[in-house]
Amino acid sequence: MDDAVKLTCATCGQANRVPRDKLSAGPKCGSCGEALADGRVAELDPKVHDKATRGDSLPLLVDYWAPWCGPCRMMAPEFAKAAKTLAPVVRFAKINTEDFPEVSQRAGIRGIPALILYDKGREVARLAGARPAAEIAAFVRGNLPGLH
Ligand SMILES: [Zn+2]
Repeated sequence: MDDAVKLTCATCGQANRVPRDKLSAGPKCGSCGEALADGRVAELDPKVHDKATRGDSLPLLVDYWAPWCGPCRMMAPEFAKAAKTLAPVVRFAKINTEDFPEVSQRAGIRGIPALILYDKGREVARLAGARPAAEIAAFVRGNLPGLH
């Protein structure tokens, strides 16, 4: 059984393979040295967004947001808190839809903030509107029954 997970580095886009039992040991990108799953919310660009949402074997929750969106800014600390709660088994990231409107268009997002949960290269569920950390974490856990 292949017990390595594939993780796209949010900083440089390099695909990394990490043994599952090393996830908690602070794995770093083999190319740029950035932490791969340290509970921080990574800022994505479209290239990394597509690679990570389609190819990663670890669940990824993406926050589609914009700087002009008040509820998005309000939710940011809650999102960051939930990211720490679920690290390292779920990664959290955000993408600025003002800078990259094509990404939210492709995802069919009509209002922000919007959260989309990806797992094993496909969309699992989405959640619209600003939510507190506990609701974000519950949304992730509720949609990933195998999560411990
Ligand atoms: Zn990297």
